[in-house]
Amino acid sequence: MAARKAARTKSTTKPCPDCMGGEVFETFKVGGRKKHESPDRQQALCLTCLGTGETQAT
Ligand SMILES: [Zn+2]
Repeated sequence: MAARKAARTKSTTKPCPDCMGGEVFETFKVGGRKKHESPDRQQALCLTCLGTGETQAT
């Protein structure tokens, strides 16, 4: 990971890189004979930040 100079933030958290506001949209893959991806996306809770949208900057 590239080292970035920290901005003026006192918070020890940073925006979660794996989601948008704590929610992720996974492509809903339809199983079956056809190899077809549904355009629908499944909304799920981000497991990286547990839905907070932030991760601990440890
Ligand atoms: Zn997240």
